[in-house]
Amino acid sequence: MPATLIKGKPIADRIRATVAEEVRELGHVGLVTVLVGDDPASEVYIRLKHKAATEAGFAAQDVRLPAGISEAELLTRVEELNADDAVDGLLIQLPLPDHIDEAQILRAVAPVKDVDGLHPFNAGQLFLGRPTLVGATPLGVMAMLHEHRIELDGARAVVLGRSDIVGKPLAQLLMQANATVTICHSHTKDLPRQTLDADILVAAVGVPALVTPDMVKTGGVVIDVGINRTGAGLVGDVDPGAEDVAAYFTPVPGGVGPMTIACLLQNAVRAARFRRGELAFPH
Ligand code: NAP
Repeated sequence: MPATLIKGKPIADRIRATVAEEVRELGHVGLVTVLVGDDPASEVYIRLKHKAATEAGFAAQDVRLPAGISEAELLTRVEELNADDAVDGLLIQLPLPDHIDEAQILRAVAPVKDVDGLHPFNAGQLFLGRPTLVGATPLGVMAMLHEHRIELDGARAVVLGRSDIVGKPLAQLLMQANATVTICHSHTKDLPRQTLDADILVAAVGVPALVTPDMVKTGGVVIDVGINRTGAGLVGDVDPGAEDVAAYFTPVPGGVGPMTIACLLQNAVRAARFRRGELAFPH
C-alpha cells in the first residue's frame, strides 16, 4: 500500500494564517534578510521568503550586498541592523562568499533577532534542552510529525546529515521528544544498516535519491528535507519509490520546503515577542 503523503503546504498555510493574525495584533514586525552576492538558489529562497513575509503583513526588508563586500563592512551592516529597533528578525542567507568567515558573521547577529537559530547562544540553548530560537527547517519537520500524530516517544529516529541548519538541531529536537536518535554523515559505514532500523528516517544530505527503497523500513516514516536541482527538476534525497515501502512520506517539492518558510515567519513573530518582553528571553 502506498504511503500517506505528508504534504507541507496545507500545514504551512495554516501556520501562515495564524502568523498573519499575530502580526496584525503586534502592529509591526520587522523581518530583514541579508543576501551577499548573487547565488541563484539563494535568490530563489530569498524571493519566496519575502513574498510570504509581505503576504503575512511583515515589514520585510531585502538587503542585497555585493559579493565583494569585506567581512568588516558586513559586520558593520549587521551591527546596524542589530541596533535598529524596527528590526525584530534578522536572517543572513547562507552560504556567504568564501572570503567571509561565516561563523564570525553569525556570532555577530543579536541572539534575540536570530531567526535561524544559528547564533551559538541559541544553538547552545537548544543543546541544553531550553530552546529559544530554533531553525525553521527542523521546526517544520517536527510540526509535520506532530500534525500526523507520529509517535516519537521511544521511536528510533535516524537523521542523515549533521549540518548546523538541519541535521544537528533536528536530532536535538527528536531526542528531546524522547526518540532514540542516530545521526549519520558522509563517514558513516553501512548506511542501510542504520536506515533499515529507522521508525523515522530524515534525509538532509543534498544527494539526489541517496536513500533507495531498499534502505527504508517497511511501515516507517520518511521525511525528505533534500532539495536538489537536477536536469529532471527539483528532487529530494529519497528515491520516490520509497513511497511503496514507507507508511508516511513527504513529497519533494511540496513537503518540507513550504514548512521552512512558514516556520521562519513564526520565528520572526517569536523574536518580536521576545523583544517586547511578552516572552522571556534568557540573558
Ligand atoms: P550540508 O550542510 O551540505 O550538509 C549535508 C550533510 O549530509 C553533511 O552532514 C554530510 O556529511 C552529509 N552527507 C553528504 N553526503 C552523504 C552521504 N553520501 N552519506 C551520508 N551523509 C552524507 O546540507 P544542508 O544545508 O543540511 O542541506 C541538506 C539538503 O537539504 C540539501 O539538499 C538542501 O538543499 C536541503 N535543504 C532543504 C530545506 C528545506 O526547506 N526543504 C532547508 C535546508 C536545506 P559530512 O558532515 O560528513 O560532510
